[in-house]
Amino acid sequence: MNTFKIAALAGDGIGPEVMREAIKVLRATEKKFGFKLEITEAPVGWAGIDSDGKALPEKTLALCKQSDSILFGSVGLPDRDATIPKEERPERAALLRIRKEFSLFANLRPVKLPKALAHACPLAKERQGDGIDILVVRELTGGMYFGQPKKTENLPDGNFRAIDTMVYTTPEIERIAHVAFKAARLRRKKLTSIDKANVLENGILWREVVTRVGKHYSDVTLEHQFVDNAAMQLVLRPTQFDVMLCENMFGDILSDEAAALGGSLGMLPSASLGASSGEKIFGFYEPAGGTAPDIAGKNLANPIAQILSAALMLRHSFGLNEAAAAIEIAVGKAIDSGNRTGDIFNPNESGAQKIGTREMGDAIAAAI
Ligand code: NAD
Repeated sequence: MNTFKIAALAGDGIGPEVMREAIKVLRATEKKFGFKLEITEAPVGWAGIDSDGKALPEKTLALCKQSDSILFGSVGLPDRDATIPKEERPERAALLRIRKEFSLFANLRPVKLPKALAHACPLAKERQGDGIDILVVRELTGGMYFGQPKKTENLPDGNFRAIDTMVYTTPEIERIAHVAFKAARLRRKKLTSIDKANVLENGILWREVVTRVGKHYSDVTLEHQFVDNAAMQLVLRPTQFDVMLCENMFGDILSDEAAALGGSLGMLPSASLGASSGEKIFGFYEPAGGTAPDIAGKNLANPIAQILSAALMLRHSFGLNEAAAAIEIAVGKAIDSGNRTGDIFNPNESGAQKIGTREMGDAIAAAI
């Protein structure tokens, strides 16, 4: 029987509540599809500081290294931030450390707006078509955010000059392009590559390399869009997109724009992928939102983002496509039956019932 090792790091705020529901759904999937998941929980974030004095305790990091993937909740409690130095805070000491440690270079952010939740989307219904279903693939370790030189200089006239540098190499573009084409193959087989080839050297290289990589994926339709047009198209006709491939900064911006179309942060999963060894790709899977301290511990959080993050893990790290799809279908069924946590509840919607975190997890697990 195939066995997969998962480090489950729930973290702070709503993290433990939504993680509990994701594990419940994973267990239901394991039973149905006959694989084995070794899930080990460990503290991270303020939970790590409280138990071991560090946001990423050594034993947690060791567990991650022995695992095939990390299923992550979220970390950070703004009320406690002032009590420790910036570099020891969970967002830096745990999140950034993990990204670096595991060389997570590809960020996948799917945005899916089920028809039943059309009311939660800021776009008019006619722009939503048959439902929005987009995957943004963002390069995570290169481009403007990391290129050197990066500094602010004093000028002789007393002014300052700030310099950031956009740098990409051919292999960096190739490896993210392969991730995006492979993801498109598992979806509607269309890839829109985003660049600024009319102005930036980086854009010209990006377009050349993506086009070349595309020759290995003749079953995927490739098109190119300038980033400014893509930003506009996302609000004008979002249904034209399947997979959007972006460099780091463009992806940062467009993935948040796309996320706003999904209706609620509580619905949005994400995956960050590292290097592959054979069939297995090490990945870090987390909801797009944070610790939501305003609703933590009250059975109010929407666990769907965490549950869909677990589905992404089954698909992208373990190749369990059928089981991943089963989770996504079960989420759809739970929504279609009218189950709503507070963030997606509309009192005018007939047949909708407001339920809690635990009840939403139960409904999805039952639908597997
Ligand atoms: P947030 O995402 O935690 O919350 C923003 C709003 O969205 C809140 O009103 C919250 O109630 C709501 N929300 C978020 N997730 C939800 C869910 N699953 N169900 C229902 N509603 C949900 O953002 P914030 O308030 O800016 O940040 C709170 C803390 O989380 C901060 O310490 C921040 O640094 C941290 N954070 C961590 C991560 C991470 O671990 N990856 C990401 C973002 C923010």
